[in-house]
Amino acid sequence: MSAIILDGKALSAQVRAEVKSKVAALAQRGIRPGLAVVLAGDDPASKVYVRNKTRACEEAGVHSQQIDYPASVTQEELMACIRKLNADPAVHGILVQLPLPKHIDAARVLAAVSPQKDADGFHVESMGALVAGAPGFVPCTPAGVMRMLAHWDVPLSGRRAVVIGRSNIVGKPLALLLLQKDATVTISHSKTADLAAVARQADILVAAIGRPKLVTAQMVKPGACVIDVGINRLADGSLAGDVDFAAVKDVAGWITPVPGGVGPMTIAMLLENCVQAASK
Ligand code: NAD
Repeated sequence: MSAIILDGKALSAQVRAEVKSKVAALAQRGIRPGLAVVLAGDDPASKVYVRNKTRACEEAGVHSQQIDYPASVTQEELMACIRKLNADPAVHGILVQLPLPKHIDAARVLAAVSPQKDADGFHVESMGALVAGAPGFVPCTPAGVMRMLAHWDVPLSGRRAVVIGRSNIVGKPLALLLLQKDATVTISHSKTADLAAVARQADILVAAIGRPKLVTAQMVKPGACVIDVGINRLADGSLAGDVDFAAVKDVAGWITPVPGGVGPMTIAMLLENCVQAASK
């Protein structure tokens, strides 16, 4: 049996079309959603991510502006930039591209972003709202995963979900969102004993690790839904997820490809967050 492939590219195109019509409706009220992206340093991957995000904004009618700093930027320069963007009424969403240069205290920069403009959902206030089940900005990648699960009617209530990875931007928020949908959730990580045995219990298995093909077919329960968040650049220049797609697709019931799975959904959810911020 071969798994149903969750085509994030196709679903994200649909979400982006929906965003475009919401943007058109806001234009009737004289509002144009605006996103500001702050990029510091010259990490090539970050540059590609930022370019994709700003391009997607323009396509959807969201105004985007990019503020570039060299790797030598100071903490105070970044703090001043965030304060300026917080005060700018044309900016509804602020995104600070991570990672920031090593000498910068990233937590302080993220904490300076106004919670009303927290398009990435990384502010502690947004995280607190998620823990409490209150409305707020949800980080884009976990939100994109949830949208995929809903679109393909993957049953969650009462099912066992295992999230591998405990980062603040993917693993932890995704575990909370799965819990909100009544899944029984386990968060596993680099110190988890017998990861394979834990993973095999999952009806929904999420890999958010950053280790190419770490999840093998032996770690997957037959029929499980396998969500691959990982994006890893291999030595030959190609991209691979955290899941051994070729082998796991014959065991899983549903699976996301890399590329073309969770990645495009992340950008679509960023646009949704910008529209949400502008609507407020
Ligand atoms: P991170 O480095 O912050 O966290 C990785 C997590 O994996 C950690 O919690 C760690 O405990 C766990 N881990 C590491 N080695 C492990 C092992 N051998 N066994 C079990 N757990 C292990 O990474 P992140 O920011 O959460 O990103 C994870 C992956 O997702 C990366 O490949 C990243 O590029 C990708 N990512 C993709 C998107 C997207 O849009 N698709 C967005 C964000 C991150």
